[in-house]
Amino acid sequence: MKKIDQGIQFLTDYMQLFQCPVCHAQFIEIKGHSLCCEQNHHFDVSKKGTVFFLAHQAKNEYDKEMLTSRFKIAQDGLFNPILDVIFDLMGPNYQGTTIDVGCGEGSQLDYLTEKGLKGTKIGFDISKDAIQLASSHFTSAFWCVADLAKSPFATNQYDTLLNIFSPSNYQEFKRILKDNGTVIKVVPEKNYLIELRHLFYQDQKEKQTYQNDLVIEKFQEHFPEMEQHRCSYEFPLNEEQFQALMEMTPLGWGASEEATKYALLNPLKMITVDVCILVGKKQIS
Ligand SMILES: [Zn+2]
Repeated sequence: MKKIDQGIQFLTDYMQLFQCPVCHAQFIEIKGHSLCCEQNHHFDVSKKGTVFFLAHQAKNEYDKEMLTSRFKIAQDGLFNPILDVIFDLMGPNYQGTTIDVGCGEGSQLDYLTEKGLKGTKIGFDISKDAIQLASSHFTSAFWCVADLAKSPFATNQYDTLLNIFSPSNYQEFKRILKDNGTVIKVVPEKNYLIELRHLFYQDQKEKQTYQNDLVIEKFQEHFPEMEQHRCSYEFPLNEEQFQALMEMTPLGWGASEEATKYALLNPLKMITVDVCILVGKKQIS
């Protein structure tokens, strides 16, 4: 089946998971290659089977090069131990509906699928480039370009929401989750990519560590009975992987040219990944 037909098939089977981002009404049909709501707002399914739910492309900080680098290093397994914990948290019998919020280039959801994650899967990102990469590499999920501020996702439909290194909108998370649905959020811990921080910010001690207290506090306000799981490991790097890491990480943005040059001349042989995995449940309203 062609990718566009797969996309149309998915939307036909799971139309109830979506809502019109313009008027919030339900989608009622697919006309030709377009998903249509009651008020006739329509969204085309692309050749790659994706849907662009934004009114126009939002500006974002992730360019194609960065996404490609992230794709490479994710394929080499940089984040796999985190995803292994998430897979175990979801449990061996899980068959629910999963949405990956800010899925980037799609590696996360694809790895979980390869590992055996069952059920219905949607990955979305605000970046069109990210979704293009995801849809050209992976068929493990339905991919779309969307913004939670103008959400195309329907109320009370999702069992698990993944929010891995991406911004949160807790009101929206709770709206789209089913009662007792789970949100799994990954945030950096203080030693996350610490070797890279030291390389980049030799003179700026305050930038050498990362504080996540406020992020965790905010999560707890919304999900008071949350659990926390620390996941920490070292990942060996070859030169190519080090390059990719330099290109993908938002850390690089604030570093001076001099610091970047120095870093390139002194490639790291390993990097520490240190994260906190937060698990919250939507309480029955
Ligand atoms: Zn509409």
